Amino acid sequence: MAVSNQAVKSAYDSAMENFDLAADALGLDSNVRNMIKYPERILEVSLPVRMDDGRIQRFDGFRVQHSTARGPAKGGIRYHPGVTLDEVKALATWMTWKCAVVNIPYGGGKGGVTCNPKEMSQNELERMTRRYASAILPLIGPDQDIPAPDVYTNSQVMAWIMDTYSMTKGFPIPGVVTGKPISLGGSLGRNEATGRGVFYTIQSAAEHLRIPIKGSKVVVQGFGNAGSVAAHLLDSNQAYVIAASDSRGCVYNSKGLDIPKLMLHKEKTGSVVGMANSETITPQQLLSLPCDILVPAALENAVDGSNAGAVKTKIVAEAANGPVTPEGDTILEKNGAFVIPDILCNAGGVTVSYFEWVQDEQHLFWEAQDVYNRLERVMKSSFAEVLKIHLDRKVSMRTAANMLGIGRVAEATRLRGLYP
Ligand code: NAD
Repeated sequence: MAVSNQAVKSAYDSAMENFDLAADALGLDSNVRNMIKYPERILEVSLPVRMDDGRIQRFDGFRVQHSTARGPAKGGIRYHPGVTLDEVKALATWMTWKCAVVNIPYGGGKGGVTCNPKEMSQNELERMTRRYASAILPLIGPDQDIPAPDVYTNSQVMAWIMDTYSMTKGFPIPGVVTGKPISLGGSLGRNEATGRGVFYTIQSAAEHLRIPIKGSKVVVQGFGNAGSVAAHLLDSNQAYVIAASDSRGCVYNSKGLDIPKLMLHKEKTGSVVGMANSETITPQQLLSLPCDILVPAALENAVDGSNAGAVKTKIVAEAANGPVTPEGDTILEKNGAFVIPDILCNAGGVTVSYFEWVQDEQHLFWEAQDVYNRLERVMKSSFAEVLKIHLDRKVSMRTAANMLGIGRVAEATRLRGLYP
């Protein structure tokens, strides 16, 4: 997203580069690297969809299973005009390490369709989703590969996938996707799980750095599911969310935005733009605002070598996947920012997806507070494990998280005897 004169590095390049840093620190040999670094399975599909005007439009879709070493592949489905195979491979790779960091029994996967859902009707989205679900049917299943929501997909999309899959079996199989509506076997707390998990890791980081959340200044790039929930919890804990953005623009108030009102405004108008008592600023100004906590919660490569120098924050909480490039990391580290890496920071979503899958398999559903308590324990204990590696081994928080995740996948692979 940032404009740069440097050769543009893809998200997958960044994922591979960060893998090597952690694998070097772990001293992994080339046999293990060859077994765990690359996607196990890639499916590319062509989706002809009848549009409302009667035309047939074709969309490209993907499903990548990066790893099944520790359990079924697990990962979201993204609908966005920028979806490419390269991006889906990167996201699937990060899912593998993420599930291992929070120690849930899944591998990593991801899917996506290159489309612009904002320009499609509900009926067109439903037809495209059902076509996509049929196309990836050979890969998915509650014991094989379990999709979930990601950017511009939601519980309704998951309901359509669950229905399409179940139709082929002749009976309902809720465990094939997570992030479903509650009435179809979804879990209480799943919708806000990613943002809530981000908040718990921010609490842990703030405690470690002795920065009080009360009175801190927060900037959120990407006021969607993950970003708005994190903002709301920080606001409820007396932080000042001074700026927020989405794909249409950025809003700012030096005294703090009214977050419940901003959520309503976004729900009503589809954007943060035009919020009462706010000034409009540019995306670059937003990233450069002096603050205590910066939450990039939009897409990959938001902070790179060209703009990281302008970032003035104490904590970067990566709600998004891959928002900081390796070049951006080097600059943030030099400038003393504490980064809570994506595979730890936003792992709350997949953790509650795991809770949902467990509840579906057991046909026994938990109360919301039970979900929050379990999530808080998982997020805070995972944060503590990553922090310990960061401090003991004197590596960045990102390398520490990758060492924890990659180390667990390497061990599982070794114990399964998958390599000589
Ligand atoms: P979402 O679709 O609910 O929200 C994304 C938001 O980002 C939207 O408000 C959109 O307008 C905004 N956005 C898009 N481009 C932007 C830009 N250039 N500048 C500023 N804002 C921009 O999606 P989400 O589920 O909240 O996902 C956001 C990030 O969090 C993604 O990187 C996703 O992979 C990651 N994530 C999501 C989950 C989950 O459970 N939803 C879990 C883990 C990670």
